[in-house]
Amino acid sequence: MIDVFDQIRESVYFLVSRSFDSNITFIKSNDHHILVDTGTGLYAESLENELHSLGSSLSSITDIILTHAHIDHIGGVVPILEVGSPKIYLHKAEAEHINRGDMSSTLSDTFGAELPPLRVEGILEEGSSLDFGNVKMRVYHTPGHSEGSITIELEDTGILLTGDTLFSGGSFGRVDFPTGSPKKLVESLKRISEMKFDIGLPGHMNAMKYNAKKSALTSYQMAKSMFRM
Ligand SMILES: [Zn+2]
Repeated sequence: MIDVFDQIRESVYFLVSRSFDSNITFIKSNDHHILVDTGTGLYAESLENELHSLGSSLSSITDIILTHAHIDHIGGVVPILEVGSPKIYLHKAEAEHINRGDMSSTLSDTFGAELPPLRVEGILEEGSSLDFGNVKMRVYHTPGHSEGSITIELEDTGILLTGDTLFSGGSFGRVDFPTGSPKKLVESLKRISEMKFDIGLPGHMNAMKYNAKKSALTSYQMAKSMFRM
């Protein structure tokens, strides 16, 4: 089940998942239709309807940026590839595995899902900048939930897309999957809490629309004490 897109800024829409799926962000620039994370793909039909209401569709998506490769974020790429040919972006630590045909970083086996081999052309790393015309993004490498986890800044909007690193309500992503690291997660949360932003859009749970920085600081402190660092 998916909810409706909530408009966050003029061209930024955020869809909160009510299931195992990741949240999905849709960004419409003057010449690109971009998704950040895609859910499992189980609700592609509902996503298609939601995109229609925003003047887009699965086949119009030009770019898909993944905050990391876990199945609940990447699975939705598959139905989109059936109707279109978006460019897929992922941090190099996970893209390299996937481009070799090694899908283990997606956890698809763990969750009994099947993912066909994918081709990631947009290889991201710390400091990568993405130019989509009037929408520009900067990539921060924030490992901990997984080795290739990233946080994305939408420049000049005050918005951070925090993937499964930072969640709302003092929460944060789990670290017990392969390549997870409590130490790196704490460091990444510290880094995010020191960044300049007004709104946080996480991979799961609700948006941080108010007091986002305070929320990030709480998450950092909670993680620090939970992992005794
Ligand atoms: Zn994840």
